[in-house]
Amino acid sequence: MLDRRRFVSSSALALGGLALPGCATTIARPSASAAPTGCLPPVDVSADRVIRTVAGLRPYRASGFVVRAEALGDKRLVHNYGHGGAGITLSWGTSKLATELGLPGHQGPVAVIGAGIMGLTTARLVQEAGFPVTLYTAALPPDTTSNIAGGQWSPFGHYRDDAVTPEWRAQFARALDYSWRRFQIMIGDDYGIRWLTTYAESGGDPGPADTYHPAAARLSSQDHPFPVDNVVRFDTMYVETGRFLRQMMRDIHVAGGRFAIRRFASPAEISTLPERLVFNCTGLGARELFGDTELHPVRGQLAILLPQPEIRYAFTGEAGYMFPRPDGIILGGTFERDEWRAEPRAEDIARIIASHRRLFEGFRCTA
Ligand SMILES: Cc1cc2nc3c(=O)[nH]c(=O)nc-3n(C[C@H](O)[C@H](O)[C@H](O)COP(=O)(O)OP(=O)(O)OC[C@H]3O[C@@H](n4cnc5c(N)ncnc54)[C@H](O)[C@@H]3O)c2cc1C
Repeated sequence: MLDRRRFVSSSALALGGLALPGCATTIARPSASAAPTGCLPPVDVSADRVIRTVAGLRPYRASGFVVRAEALGDKRLVHNYGHGGAGITLSWGTSKLATELGLPGHQGPVAVIGAGIMGLTTARLVQEAGFPVTLYTAALPPDTTSNIAGGQWSPFGHYRDDAVTPEWRAQFARALDYSWRRFQIMIGDDYGIRWLTTYAESGGDPGPADTYHPAAARLSSQDHPFPVDNVVRFDTMYVETGRFLRQMMRDIHVAGGRFAIRRFASPAEISTLPERLVFNCTGLGARELFGDTELHPVRGQLAILLPQPEIRYAFTGEAGYMFPRPDGIILGGTFERDEWRAEPRAEDIARIIASHRRLFEGFRCTA
């Protein structure tokens, strides 16, 4: 089962000095004071409440995402791919880094390849900088991996600690900082971005408060109903991915952007584009298109239950994860390396449902 909870305890370490200990006391606490303590309404988990099941392939690279510029004939090509299980979280940030690499000194129209969250955020930043943009893509939302993502803002599952360089860590830190701030100014129903109190089983590690876990606190068993030990509570953002991507496409259209359905088989085909600056935002597609064999799929499977509007908290832990969204209660998940079939398997879905059912039926009290 997926171990998202590890992020909570290891984030300060993973960010390599980025965590600001002082913030624990100085950061405003947006909702923890209003957060429910003690009892919570449980999620009603049963197989007959499942409205759909999905599986997607995370574009994972042990040495982390690629944001890099190179020459392609007379063009500048800027890569922005390989974000593993954190592409929603990192999107605005690495797209910002990519545009900072590509745009200085450029004149004229710009091409973006791919219309998942990386392509759409890159295209918007290109437009915001004043350039006309065309998105070339094999598929549009809702047929992208980005549509499948649960949408927790959490830099989880996208690199291996011993495989990244200090330079990459610096990119990561800058990307997180921009993304964190950019998503916050888009909170609301139009983009489907919300703050939610999150309960995470944390493996007994010490306190978690840092920049990206405002209002974090370790809870005693009276302060939560979950039948598990070592629970940490913090606030983070959640993105209703379908709604967000739809709104981003509208924004790009309104600003004069064009979409063209086109699949590229090789860099040579990309060289025939009229634009002299090209952003590669093809996710897992970059493996075949650019021969990046370091890129591997990590499959994730989800069961989505009927919406339950009274559920206004999220959970991550041994049982998996539960993110409540207006379009359904998202139950995850799996983290299956080198599985290429983007299809849910009945036995895995049954396991996800059973583990969450045990969790919520085991509530020590209910609200
Ligand atoms: C089950 C699951 C849960 C997840 N949960 C989270 C989460 O909670 N939080 C989080 O931050 N992240 C999460 N992720 C990770 C996130 O979904 C990915 O990191 C992110 O979607 C990658 O975005 P992308 O734009 O790079 O790729 P994609 O969304 O795959 O978009 C790639 C685009 O490129 C196009 N393309 C590909 N090849 C070509 C080609 N040869 N020619 C032309 N176009 C091409 C495709 O058609 C598509 O439009 C999750 C992923 C899964 C599977």
